[in-house]
Amino acid sequence: MRYCSTRGGVQGWGFQRVLFSGYAPDGGMFMPETLPTLSPDTLKSWSSLAYPELVLKLCSLFIPDDVIPRQHLEGLLSRALSHFSVPGAVRLMQLKGGLNLLELFHGETRAFKDLAMTCTAHLLKYFLHKEKSRAIVLVGTSGDTGSSAIRSVCGLNGVDVVVVFPQGRISSMQERQMTTSLEDNVHVFAADGSSDDIDVLLRNLFKDQDLVKLHGLMSLNSVNWSRILVQLAHFLYAYLQLSGIKQIKDHVLPSLEVVVPTGGASNIAAGCILKQMGVPLHLVAMVNANDTVHHVVQTGNFSMADSVKKTLAHAIDIQDPYNMERVFWLLSGGDCVLVKGLMEEFHNSHRTVLPGALHKQLSAVLSTGSVTDEGIVETMQKCWEENGYLLCPHTAVAVWHYYHCPPCPGKGRCYIATASPVKFQEVVHRAGLPLELPEEVQGLEKMATRCEKLEKGTNWEAQLRERIKRIHSVRESRELFYRA
Ligand SMILES: *Cc1c(COP(=O)(O)O)cnc(C)c1O
Repeated sequence: MRYCSTRGGVQGWGFQRVLFSGYAPDGGMFMPETLPTLSPDTLKSWSSLAYPELVLKLCSLFIPDDVIPRQHLEGLLSRALSHFSVPGAVRLMQLKGGLNLLELFHGETRAFKDLAMTCTAHLLKYFLHKEKSRAIVLVGTSGDTGSSAIRSVCGLNGVDVVVVFPQGRISSMQERQMTTSLEDNVHVFAADGSSDDIDVLLRNLFKDQDLVKLHGLMSLNSVNWSRILVQLAHFLYAYLQLSGIKQIKDHVLPSLEVVVPTGGASNIAAGCILKQMGVPLHLVAMVNANDTVHHVVQTGNFSMADSVKKTLAHAIDIQDPYNMERVFWLLSGGDCVLVKGLMEEFHNSHRTVLPGALHKQLSAVLSTGSVTDEGIVETMQKCWEENGYLLCPHTAVAVWHYYHCPPCPGKGRCYIATASPVKFQEVVHRAGLPLELPEEVQGLEKMATRCEKLEKGTNWEAQLRERIKRIHSVRESRELFYRA
């Protein structure tokens, strides 16, 4: 199993090297050079497996045995997934009228990112321990990635984590989950910009290969292939549980529609990969007023607005759905020349047009919709009235689709629930719905905080570079001290 860049500049890299990377050196994203196929027999034989077992099955396909021996892989993944608050790490809720919700938010920071993040952190730990190497993890966050990366990595020897969040554009609980982390190896920055501004900043740092190599810079955003890999399991689990595969007698696989609230499109990329591997999925990407993905599927024009719109579902306030690069690569049959041209034009001029054939492919695998703030609030209220079930605003973006396109009887459909409503008190109150805060959440209010400001006007790229250098040198002197 070898990996390449979507832009053609890198081929033949192994899993470990890809894991310790961010963007590929040519600016592209890593993908497996070939995808394994899951036969109907394999799928049937997996149909009763729990989520953690599926994560192991999938990781085993993409991480060769001579890179991590099976028994080690099994041990580290089961440790990673043992800290969730429901058995099996995820929970399927079957509400009235065929509204199936796959809850992926039972980890420590209460968003789906914990699942892939903690597995990825345990993979990192394995190699760090084996090779006594070190790394600086650099992540931007639209709200949930930051705390998840911090919680997954903060105890790891040899790793520092640098998180940049968009100040004033995340919920107070999301902010506190990051700024109350006072560990030595955690460095949190509040930036005056949107999460897309932060993405551009980090992309520029990753372009500097000297900086990347010198400090061992790596990403834990969904740029990192390992996060996408674990997320394949979301779709596989939903498929095996809800498509009706357990009942079929022949080899004709039933299909499942999966509806996903979409920002950086990491789940959508994972879903497309699994579909390519032989699992009959139809994907529906639901967005808020930041509708780049909706627009490109509807029209073939891939373009972003001049600024990110603030909405009630702010973890998906993203105009640059960067994992679409993986989807374009996949659907064009790995045409890296095409992808490189498209993505460079998109990032330079903020707009480009998909070739007709690619647009046709895209609209065949992906349906989309865009939801207003009003639609989010109405959906939360409706679901509460009908089921006594509280949705987070992002999950509501997906579930809006349920109320506008009710499922046909006999056809499987699953909605991905990406976060707990507890993280978004402000929005729940605005919708006039009751919310009981767990004690641990209330406790966050009283804890000490630490974070640095990153001002856009003052050349924030230079500022962040300096800080990374300082983090590196502090760590080196500390290690010298302990060795002496
Ligand atoms: C990150 C996030 C999303 C979107 O993630 P994708 O990368 O588009 O899969 C959706 N909802 C919540 C709550 C999130 O934190």
